[in-house]
Amino acid sequence: MLELLYQKPEIYRILVPLPENPLKTLNSYLIKSNSRNLLIDTGFNRPECYEALIENLKKLDVDMEKTDIFLTHLHSDHTGLINKIAHKNSRIYIGKIDYEYMFENLEGFNWEESEKRFAEEGFPYEIIERLQNTNQAKIFAPDEMFESLLVEDNDKFFLNELEFTVIFTPGHTPGHTCLYLEKEKLLFSGDHILFDITPNITSWLRVKDSLRNYINSLEKIKKLEIKKTFPGHRAHSEDVYNRIDEIIEHHKSRLLDTLEVIKGNFSELTAYEIAGLMKWNMRGKSWSEFPDNQKWFAVGETLSHLDFLINENKIEKFKDNNIYKYKLK
Ligand SMILES: [Zn+2]
Repeated sequence: MLELLYQKPEIYRILVPLPENPLKTLNSYLIKSNSRNLLIDTGFNRPECYEALIENLKKLDVDMEKTDIFLTHLHSDHTGLINKIAHKNSRIYIGKIDYEYMFENLEGFNWEESEKRFAEEGFPYEIIERLQNTNQAKIFAPDEMFESLLVEDNDKFFLNELEFTVIFTPGHTPGHTCLYLEKEKLLFSGDHILFDITPNITSWLRVKDSLRNYINSLEKIKKLEIKKTFPGHRAHSEDVYNRIDEIIEHHKSRLLDTLEVIKGNFSELTAYEIAGLMKWNMRGKSWSEFPDNQKWFAVGETLSHLDFLINENKIEKFKDNNIYKYKLK
């Protein structure tokens, strides 16, 4: 599906299907201009995504040789097709930190380390094993690394008269970036700010407190003047400020719930057990009925809240028989 969302500049949304994924679709944006175009995010490295993207780019009469690509963050639903879609003359922009992380992912280092880390947090090994071959983030990632222009906070680049500013917004991923058109007051928010669903915040290797970073990155966006926000999934919106407040409130209430679960139990719990005792919006399914990948996300999200509470000095973490457990401080 193709939709013209904005006239000046000309912004199209290409809806890329994400089969068997609760996100359902990805918003890939095309900013069209006379001489060069910019494509933001690509879809998974799988045929269903490729066909939808190519077909719509054709409808728009886009010549990839004259099209640059901006990747908001490392996740495979945003980057997967990069090698298949980019022309050798396309400039590819991506945040430096996420690019380096992606490289390590491709080499396999981060997956192994994350699996080991989750096992130490009480995550059952048989689920980890099942996930090794079904994790979409892993199987639909780009097949190899690509040459790109590594961008950092406040870097600027042009597309004819349009001036884009890169806004570093770590949280959802360690090096997530948004793209801002300052003069036009338009924001491409990637997965930093979504309107119909709450962006997943997880605990990342070598990141001390993802949730703290995420909240700081939300506050950072609040200071910009924004008329319209184009997110990585689902609907766009004119009121980013209200949504930022809602998301911050959501995490505050999840932090309280996490603390309540720890308080309400006499024995010390693992992160996996804490996740199982939290409330999740999963169409009435109980924890034991959760699909494997949803358990993985839920535990990641719980870990990010636990990291935050540790840094706030509310709880502490200790090792018991090679497994981490949490208790009040
Ligand atoms: Zn994402």
